[in-house]
Amino acid sequence: MKRDLIVLADMYGCPNRCRHCWLGHMPNKNMPDNADKMIVNYFKPYFDSITFYSWVREPDFCGDYEQRWLRDNEISINAKPQRFELASFRRLAHDKNYVRFLRSVGVSKVQLTFFGTEEMTDKYVGRKGAFLELMKAAEILTDNNISPRFQAFINSENADDVVRLLSIIEDMKLSERCKSFGGEFSFFVHSGSCDGENRKLYSLRINKEDIPSQLIPYYNDYSETKTEAELCELLKNSDERFVYHNDNEITLNIANNFDVYFNFTHMFPAWKIGNILTDDSKELYGKIIEEDIPALDIARNTAVSELVRKFGDPQSHKIFDCIDDYKAYLLNEQVNILI
Ligand code: SF4
Repeated sequence: MKRDLIVLADMYGCPNRCRHCWLGHMPNKNMPDNADKMIVNYFKPYFDSITFYSWVREPDFCGDYEQRWLRDNEISINAKPQRFELASFRRLAHDKNYVRFLRSVGVSKVQLTFFGTEEMTDKYVGRKGAFLELMKAAEILTDNNISPRFQAFINSENADDVVRLLSIIEDMKLSERCKSFGGEFSFFVHSGSCDGENRKLYSLRINKEDIPSQLIPYYNDYSETKTEAELCELLKNSDERFVYHNDNEITLNIANNFDVYFNFTHMFPAWKIGNILTDDSKELYGKIIEEDIPALDIARNTAVSELVRKFGDPQSHKIFDCIDDYKAYLLNEQVNILI
């Protein structure tokens, strides 16, 4: 049975070093120009369609982003890449042609990520000036009839600052501005998953009762969130194995050294499938179909109750946005010990 492949290659990197980055920080390095075709040809015999994206991290980070978009379309097979609601806020702030490009490819909404106001956002994006760029990007988007969607990651260090961000949003009158062109501004708050870089922020994960009341109406699916203590209680007798699994559509992330990963969680060694430069394509395809990687072997052989017993904190009120985020956090604790 053939399947559909979506492949995201880290051909250019990312200007930011966000502390919540679920992929994990990786050095920026341009892949060779012919890497795109090489990757598509490598997987071509095994899939009905291949959708190729030249970025895993920052979209449109390369200088010639218009040509790059055309090329991603051209080399995809029986499929076309989509824009989603993602764009480079850095490029929006510094490249006046960029917003026109976004409009030309049908973008009507762009997500912008905050961690509070200037100091916290710059700190958590890992770059001075990030907050001012985000503010400028929001203005440019609304001036060009594109709706910004703000998301804020919250933890115990920045909670009060996210409340201050709410006042700034109100002062900017973004809802009214979007309504004037038939768009819609939205804002939501969440804690993010607990993998990649965000895993290092476990100690700062906010207690559920400490979410400021002003932010609860904006918290994403707040009624679905649980404390770690509640999750430990729910899962302490669970025989389930928490195993990520693909259906017919498979998404692969390709690092700039051609290492191949599923998009299940972070791009860390235990989750690596293989390498395009050194592995035979048939063998690597077999591993993809069998989902044969070290971390998933551990997942298949470890009951969630065991993960809770070893790594759960039944006294903790730290918030988790969904039960699978917590299972993934526990599983990665086990994976890190064994590999
Ligand atoms: S979260 Fe996105 S923008 Fe931030 S470092 Fe990771 S890939 Fe780059």
